[in-house]
Amino acid sequence: MAFRQTRPRINVSFEFFPPKTEKMEETLWASVQRLAPLAPEFVSVTYGAGGSTRERTHHTVRRILTETRLKPAAHLTCVDASRQEVDEVIRQYRDTGVRHFVALRGDSASGVGEKYRPHPEGYANAVELVAGLKAIDDFEISVSAYPEKHPESPDFATDIDMLKRKVDNGATRAMTQFFFDNDAYERFVERVRRAGIYIPIVPGIVPIHDFTKIARFSAACGASIPAWLAERFEGLEKDPETHSHVAAAVCSEQVLDLVDRGVRDFHFYTMNRAELVYSICHILGLRPQPEEPEENAAAAAGASA
Ligand code: FAD
Repeated sequence: MAFRQTRPRINVSFEFFPPKTEKMEETLWASVQRLAPLAPEFVSVTYGAGGSTRERTHHTVRRILTETRLKPAAHLTCVDASRQEVDEVIRQYRDTGVRHFVALRGDSASGVGEKYRPHPEGYANAVELVAGLKAIDDFEISVSAYPEKHPESPDFATDIDMLKRKVDNGATRAMTQFFFDNDAYERFVERVRRAGIYIPIVPGIVPIHDFTKIARFSAACGASIPAWLAERFEGLEKDPETHSHVAAAVCSEQVLDLVDRGVRDFHFYTMNRAELVYSICHILGLRPQPEEPEENAAAAAGASA
Protein backbone atom coordinates (compact mmCIF):
# COMPACT_ATOMS: atom_id res chain seq x y z
CA MET A 1 0.00 0.00 0.00
CA ALA A 2 3.02 2.28 -0.54
CA PHE A 3 1.13 4.45 -3.00
CA ARG A 4 -1.27 5.63 -0.32
CA GLN A 5 1.65 7.52 1.30
CA THR A 6 3.81 8.50 -1.65
CA ARG A 7 2.86 9.48 -5.17
CA PRO A 8 4.79 7.76 -7.97
CA ARG A 9 4.87 9.41 -11.38
CA ILE A 10 2.08 8.01 -13.54
CA ASN A 11 1.89 8.21 -17.35
CA VAL A 12 -1.42 7.98 -19.13
CA SER A 13 -2.74 7.76 -22.66
CA PHE A 14 -6.33 8.20 -23.79
CA GLU A 15 -8.22 6.38 -26.53
CA PHE A 16 -11.04 8.04 -28.47
CA PHE A 17 -13.22 6.88 -31.32
CA PRO A 18 -14.08 8.98 -34.38
CA PRO A 19 -17.51 10.61 -33.98
CA LYS A 20 -20.37 9.85 -36.40
CA THR A 21 -22.48 12.98 -35.94
CA GLU A 22 -21.94 16.66 -35.20
CA LYS A 23 -23.34 16.18 -31.71
CA MET A 24 -20.88 13.34 -31.07
CA GLU A 25 -18.09 15.50 -32.44
CA GLU A 26 -18.93 18.18 -29.87
CA THR A 27 -18.89 15.60 -27.08
CA LEU A 28 -15.53 14.28 -28.26
CA TRP A 29 -13.95 17.76 -28.38
CA ALA A 30 -15.30 18.71 -24.99
CA SER A 31 -13.67 15.51 -23.66
CA VAL A 32 -10.38 16.13 -25.46
CA GLN A 33 -10.23 19.65 -24.03
CA ARG A 34 -11.05 18.47 -20.53
CA LEU A 35 -8.43 15.72 -20.57
CA ALA A 36 -5.66 17.52 -22.49
CA PRO A 37 -4.31 19.50 -19.50
CA LEU A 38 -3.48 16.16 -17.82
CA ALA A 39 -0.66 15.95 -20.38
CA PRO A 40 -1.17 12.38 -21.64
CA GLU A 41 1.80 10.75 -23.32
CA PHE A 42 -0.38 10.39 -26.44
CA VAL A 43 -4.02 10.11 -27.46
CA SER A 44 -5.12 7.43 -29.89
CA VAL A 45 -8.03 7.32 -32.31
CA THR A 46 -9.63 4.01 -33.29
CA TYR A 47 -10.18 2.79 -36.84
CA GLY A 48 -13.30 0.91 -37.92
CA ALA A 49 -12.75 -2.58 -39.30
CA GLY A 50 -12.08 -2.63 -43.03
CA GLY A 51 -11.50 1.12 -43.08
CA SER A 52 -15.17 1.91 -42.32
CA THR A 53 -14.09 5.01 -40.35
CA ARG A 54 -11.11 5.80 -42.58
CA GLU A 55 -12.10 9.43 -43.29
CA ARG A 56 -13.46 10.09 -39.82
CA THR A 57 -10.39 8.68 -38.08
CA HIS A 58 -8.16 10.74 -40.34
CA HIS A 59 -10.20 13.88 -39.70
CA THR A 60 -10.05 13.39 -35.92
CA VAL A 61 -6.32 12.68 -35.93
CA ARG A 62 -5.70 15.76 -38.09
CA ARG A 63 -7.75 17.97 -35.74
CA ILE A 64 -5.76 16.70 -32.78
CA LEU A 65 -2.53 17.47 -34.64
CA THR A 66 -3.50 20.94 -35.76
CA GLU A 67 -5.67 22.20 -32.89
CA THR A 68 -3.99 20.78 -29.80
CA ARG A 69 -0.50 20.11 -28.48
CA LEU A 70 -1.35 16.43 -27.96
CA LYS A 71 0.52 13.70 -29.77
CA PRO A 72 -1.92 11.55 -31.75
CA ALA A 73 -1.54 7.84 -32.47
CA ALA A 74 -3.62 6.57 -35.39
CA HIS A 75 -5.10 3.08 -35.05
CA LEU A 76 -4.87 1.15 -38.28
CA THR A 77 -6.30 -2.27 -39.15
CA CYS A 78 -5.39 -4.46 -42.11
CA VAL A 79 -8.58 -6.56 -42.30
CA ASP A 80 -10.48 -6.49 -45.63
CA ALA A 81 -7.93 -4.28 -47.37
CA SER A 82 -5.10 -4.88 -49.82
CA ARG A 83 -1.53 -3.93 -48.92
CA GLN A 84 -1.72 -1.17 -51.47
CA GLU A 85 -4.80 0.35 -49.82
CA VAL A 86 -3.30 0.13 -46.35
CA ASP A 87 0.02 1.59 -47.52
CA GLU A 88 -1.81 4.50 -49.09
CA VAL A 89 -3.53 5.26 -45.76
CA ILE A 90 -0.15 5.08 -44.00
CA ARG A 91 1.41 7.53 -46.46
CA GLN A 92 -1.51 9.93 -46.09
CA TYR A 93 -1.02 9.90 -42.33
CA ARG A 94 2.71 10.41 -42.71
CA ASP A 95 2.08 13.42 -44.96
CA THR A 96 -0.18 14.89 -42.27
CA GLY A 97 2.61 14.54 -39.70
CA VAL A 98 1.53 11.38 -37.86
CA ARG A 99 4.49 9.47 -36.36
CA HIS A 100 2.76 6.92 -34.12
CA PHE A 101 0.45 4.04 -35.15
CA VAL A 102 -1.48 1.42 -33.21
CA ALA A 103 -1.16 -1.51 -35.61
CA LEU A 104 -3.99 -4.03 -35.50
CA ARG A 105 -5.39 -6.86 -37.54
CA GLY A 106 -9.05 -6.00 -36.87
CA ASP A 107 -12.06 -8.29 -37.11
CA SER A 108 -13.99 -9.36 -40.17
CA ALA A 109 -16.98 -7.16 -41.00
CA SER A 110 -19.36 -9.94 -39.96
CA GLY A 111 -18.20 -9.46 -36.37
CA VAL A 112 -15.90 -10.61 -33.57
CA GLY A 113 -15.82 -14.39 -33.27
CA GLU A 114 -16.40 -14.86 -37.00
CA LYS A 115 -13.51 -16.78 -38.56
CA TYR A 116 -10.93 -14.31 -39.76
CA ARG A 117 -9.86 -14.48 -43.39
CA PRO A 118 -6.96 -12.36 -44.53
CA HIS A 119 -7.49 -10.30 -47.68
CA PRO A 120 -5.81 -12.23 -50.55
CA GLU A 121 -3.52 -9.28 -51.29
CA GLY A 122 -3.44 -7.89 -47.78
CA TYR A 123 -1.33 -8.01 -44.63
CA ALA A 124 -2.33 -11.29 -42.98
CA ASN A 125 -2.24 -10.00 -39.41
CA ALA A 126 -0.78 -7.34 -37.12
CA VAL A 127 2.69 -8.97 -37.33
CA GLU A 128 2.82 -8.27 -41.07
CA LEU A 129 1.23 -4.83 -40.67
CA VAL A 130 3.98 -3.76 -38.23
CA ALA A 131 6.59 -4.81 -40.81
CA GLY A 132 4.66 -2.94 -43.53
CA LEU A 133 4.62 0.24 -41.45
CA LYS A 134 8.33 -0.01 -40.72
CA ALA A 135 9.06 -0.54 -44.43
CA ILE A 136 7.44 2.84 -45.14
CA ASP A 137 9.02 4.88 -42.34
CA ASP A 138 10.53 4.59 -38.89
CA PHE A 139 7.22 5.13 -37.08
CA GLU A 140 6.58 4.54 -33.40
CA ILE A 141 4.36 1.44 -33.27
CA SER A 142 2.08 0.21 -30.51
CA VAL A 143 0.18 -3.08 -30.70
CA SER A 144 -2.47 -5.04 -28.81
CA ALA A 145 -2.06 -7.68 -26.11
CA TYR A 146 -4.59 -9.91 -24.38
CA PRO A 147 -4.16 -10.69 -20.65
CA GLU A 148 -6.96 -13.24 -20.86
CA LYS A 149 -5.93 -14.51 -24.32
CA HIS A 150 -7.35 -13.49 -27.68
CA PRO A 151 -10.61 -15.42 -28.23
CA GLU A 152 -9.30 -16.96 -31.49
CA SER A 153 -6.02 -18.04 -29.98
CA PRO A 154 -5.69 -21.73 -29.12
CA ASP A 155 -3.47 -20.96 -26.10
CA PHE A 156 -1.35 -18.31 -24.39
CA ALA A 157 1.82 -19.60 -26.05
CA THR A 158 0.40 -18.81 -29.53
CA ASP A 159 -0.77 -15.40 -28.40
CA ILE A 160 2.57 -14.51 -26.84
CA ASP A 161 4.43 -15.81 -29.87
CA MET A 162 2.38 -13.39 -32.02
CA LEU A 163 3.26 -10.57 -29.64
CA LYS A 164 6.93 -11.49 -29.84
CA ARG A 165 6.81 -11.39 -33.63
CA LYS A 166 5.20 -7.95 -33.53
CA VAL A 167 8.02 -6.76 -31.25
CA ASP A 168 10.66 -8.39 -33.49
CA ASN A 169 9.18 -6.39 -36.39
CA GLY A 170 9.45 -3.10 -34.51
CA ALA A 171 6.56 -2.61 -32.07
CA THR A 172 7.72 -0.85 -28.91
CA ARG A 173 4.62 -0.83 -26.72
CA ALA A 174 1.56 -3.04 -26.22
CA MET A 175 -1.76 -1.84 -24.84
CA THR A 176 -3.96 -4.56 -23.44
CA GLN A 177 -7.56 -5.43 -24.05
CA PHE A 178 -9.52 -4.17 -21.03
CA PHE A 179 -9.74 -6.51 -18.05
CA PHE A 180 -11.04 -6.45 -14.49
CA ASP A 181 -8.94 -9.26 -13.05
CA ASN A 182 -5.61 -7.74 -12.05
CA ASP A 183 -4.18 -11.18 -11.19
CA ALA A 184 -4.77 -12.23 -14.82
CA TYR A 185 -2.89 -9.14 -16.02
CA GLU A 186 0.02 -9.83 -13.66
CA ARG A 187 0.24 -13.49 -14.71
CA PHE A 188 0.18 -12.42 -18.36
CA VAL A 189 3.02 -9.92 -17.88
CA GLU A 190 5.07 -12.63 -16.15
CA ARG A 191 4.50 -14.99 -19.09
CA VAL A 192 5.45 -12.23 -21.55
CA ARG A 193 8.68 -11.48 -19.67
CA ARG A 194 9.53 -15.20 -19.50
CA ALA A 195 9.19 -15.22 -23.31
CA GLY A 196 11.88 -12.53 -23.50
CA ILE A 197 9.57 -9.63 -24.36
CA TYR A 198 10.54 -6.46 -22.53
CA ILE A 199 8.38 -3.71 -24.06
CA PRO A 200 5.83 -1.98 -21.79
CA ILE A 201 2.57 -3.95 -21.52
CA VAL A 202 0.30 -1.05 -20.68
CA PRO A 203 -2.98 -2.05 -19.04
CA GLY A 204 -6.09 -0.96 -20.97
CA ILE A 205 -8.56 0.43 -18.44
CA VAL A 206 -12.23 0.89 -19.17
CA PRO A 207 -14.27 3.00 -16.77
CA ILE A 208 -17.74 1.42 -16.78
CA HIS A 209 -20.28 3.90 -18.12
CA ASP A 210 -22.81 1.16 -18.83
CA PHE A 211 -22.28 -2.19 -17.14
CA THR A 212 -24.82 -4.05 -19.33
CA LYS A 213 -23.00 -2.97 -22.49
CA ILE A 214 -19.56 -3.77 -21.11
CA ALA A 215 -20.73 -7.22 -20.00
CA ARG A 216 -22.06 -7.95 -23.51
CA PHE A 217 -18.88 -6.69 -25.17
CA SER A 218 -16.66 -8.60 -22.74
CA ALA A 219 -18.22 -11.89 -23.76
CA ALA A 220 -17.28 -11.20 -27.39
CA CYS A 221 -13.71 -10.03 -26.81
CA GLY A 222 -12.63 -12.55 -24.22
CA ALA A 223 -12.50 -10.32 -21.11
CA SER A 224 -14.03 -12.01 -18.08
CA ILE A 225 -16.55 -10.33 -15.78
CA PRO A 226 -15.77 -11.51 -12.24
CA ALA A 227 -18.81 -12.33 -10.09
CA TRP A 228 -17.91 -9.58 -7.58
CA LEU A 229 -18.04 -6.98 -10.39
CA ALA A 230 -21.48 -8.10 -11.58
CA GLU A 231 -22.68 -7.93 -7.97
CA ARG A 232 -21.48 -4.35 -7.56
CA PHE A 233 -23.63 -3.18 -10.48
CA GLU A 234 -26.61 -5.39 -9.66
CA GLY A 235 -29.92 -3.50 -9.83
CA LEU A 236 -28.37 -0.23 -11.06
CA GLU A 237 -29.69 -0.40 -14.65
CA LYS A 238 -32.12 2.45 -14.01
CA ASP A 239 -30.07 4.37 -11.44
CA PRO A 240 -27.41 6.28 -13.41
CA GLU A 241 -26.24 8.35 -10.46
CA THR A 242 -25.39 5.37 -8.23
CA HIS A 243 -24.04 3.52 -11.28
CA SER A 244 -21.62 6.37 -11.90
CA HIS A 245 -20.40 6.47 -8.26
CA VAL A 246 -19.94 2.69 -8.24
CA ALA A 247 -18.06 2.87 -11.57
CA ALA A 248 -15.66 5.48 -10.16
CA ALA A 249 -15.09 3.38 -7.04
CA VAL A 250 -14.51 0.15 -8.99
CA CYS A 251 -12.12 1.79 -11.44
CA SER A 252 -10.09 3.59 -8.76
CA GLU A 253 -9.82 0.36 -6.83
CA GLN A 254 -8.49 -1.39 -9.94
CA VAL A 255 -5.90 1.24 -10.89
CA LEU A 256 -4.68 1.78 -7.31
CA ASP A 257 -4.20 -1.96 -6.94
CA LEU A 258 -2.22 -1.99 -10.19
CA VAL A 259 -0.07 0.90 -8.90
CA ASP A 260 0.58 -1.12 -5.76
CA ARG A 261 1.74 -3.94 -8.06
CA GLY A 262 4.23 -1.59 -9.74
CA VAL A 263 2.26 -0.37 -12.77
CA ARG A 264 3.04 3.23 -13.77
CA ASP A 265 1.46 3.50 -17.26
CA PHE A 266 -2.23 3.33 -18.05
CA HIS A 267 -4.17 3.44 -21.32
CA PHE A 268 -7.77 4.61 -20.81
CA TYR A 269 -10.62 3.61 -23.10
CA THR A 270 -12.46 6.91 -22.69
CA MET A 271 -15.53 6.12 -24.83
CA ASN A 272 -15.17 9.84 -25.70
CA ARG A 273 -16.30 10.78 -22.19
CA ALA A 274 -14.05 12.65 -19.83
CA GLU A 275 -15.71 12.72 -16.44
CA LEU A 276 -14.84 9.27 -15.04
CA VAL A 277 -11.39 9.20 -16.63
CA TYR A 278 -10.60 12.66 -15.25
CA SER A 279 -11.58 11.60 -11.71
CA ILE A 280 -9.53 8.41 -11.90
CA CYS A 281 -6.51 10.34 -13.18
CA HIS A 282 -6.91 12.80 -10.30
CA ILE A 283 -6.87 9.89 -7.85
CA LEU A 284 -3.73 8.63 -9.60
CA GLY A 285 -2.11 11.96 -8.77
CA LEU A 286 -2.34 13.67 -12.15
CA ARG A 287 -3.05 17.40 -12.08
CA PRO A 288 -3.69 19.88 -14.90
CA GLN A 289 -0.34 21.05 -16.23
CA PRO A 290 0.36 24.71 -16.97
CA GLU A 291 0.82 25.60 -20.62
CA GLU A 292 4.33 24.87 -21.84
CA PRO A 293 6.70 27.86 -21.45
CA GLU A 294 7.33 28.30 -25.20
CA GLU A 295 3.58 28.37 -25.79
CA ASN A 296 3.19 31.07 -23.16
CA ALA A 297 6.16 32.93 -24.58
CA ALA A 298 4.69 32.79 -28.08
CA ALA A 299 1.32 33.97 -26.77
CA ALA A 300 3.01 36.78 -24.88
CA ALA A 301 5.04 37.78 -27.94
CA GLY A 302 1.82 37.82 -29.98
CA ALA A 303 0.05 39.91 -27.35
CA SER A 304 2.82 42.52 -27.10
CA ALA A 305 3.26 42.82 -30.90
P1 FAD B 1 -3.22 -10.05 -34.17
O1 FAD B 1 -2.23 -9.59 -33.16
O2 FAD B 1 -2.80 -10.13 -35.58
O3 FAD B 1 -3.80 -11.46 -33.76
C1 FAD B 1 -4.54 -11.62 -32.56
C2 FAD B 1 -4.43 -13.06 -32.08
O4 FAD B 1 -5.06 -13.93 -33.02
C3 FAD B 1 -3.01 -13.52 -31.95
O5 FAD B 1 -2.46 -13.13 -30.74
C4 FAD B 1 -3.15 -15.01 -32.16
O6 FAD B 1 -3.45 -15.60 -30.96
C5 FAD B 1 -4.33 -15.12 -33.10
N1 FAD B 1 -3.80 -15.27 -34.47
C6 FAD B 1 -3.77 -14.36 -35.46
N2 FAD B 1 -3.24 -14.86 -36.58
C7 FAD B 1 -2.92 -16.12 -36.29
C8 FAD B 1 -2.34 -17.17 -37.03
N3 FAD B 1 -1.97 -17.02 -38.30
N4 FAD B 1 -2.15 -18.37 -36.41
C9 FAD B 1 -2.51 -18.54 -35.13
N5 FAD B 1 -3.08 -17.58 -34.37
C10 FAD B 1 -3.28 -16.40 -34.94
N6 FAD B 1 -10.20 -3.18 -33.66
C11 FAD B 1 -10.56 -2.32 -34.64
O7 FAD B 1 -11.26 -2.71 -35.59
N7 FAD B 1 -10.16 -1.00 -34.63
C12 FAD B 1 -9.39 -0.50 -33.63
O8 FAD B 1 -9.04 0.68 -33.65
C13 FAD B 1 -8.99 -1.38 -32.57
N8 FAD B 1 -8.19 -0.95 -31.57
C14 FAD B 1 -7.76 -1.83 -30.61
C15 FAD B 1 -6.90 -1.39 -29.61
C16 FAD B 1 -6.44 -2.25 -28.62
C17 FAD B 1 -5.49 -1.74 -27.58
C18 FAD B 1 -6.88 -3.61 -28.61
C19 FAD B 1 -6.41 -4.55 -27.55
C20 FAD B 1 -7.74 -4.07 -29.61
C21 FAD B 1 -8.19 -3.19 -30.60
N9 FAD B 1 -9.04 -3.63 -31.63
C22 FAD B 1 -9.43 -2.74 -32.63
C23 FAD B 1 -9.54 -5.01 -31.65
C24 FAD B 1 -8.70 -5.94 -32.53
O9 FAD B 1 -8.79 -5.54 -33.88
C25 FAD B 1 -9.24 -7.35 -32.37
O10 FAD B 1 -8.99 -7.81 -31.07
C26 FAD B 1 -8.77 -8.36 -33.40
O11 FAD B 1 -9.54 -9.57 -33.22
C27 FAD B 1 -7.32 -8.78 -33.33
O12 FAD B 1 -6.49 -7.77 -33.74
P2 FAD B 1 -4.91 -7.85 -33.29
O13 FAD B 1 -4.19 -6.73 -33.89
O14 FAD B 1 -4.85 -8.04 -31.86
O15 FAD B 1 -4.55 -9.19 -34.08
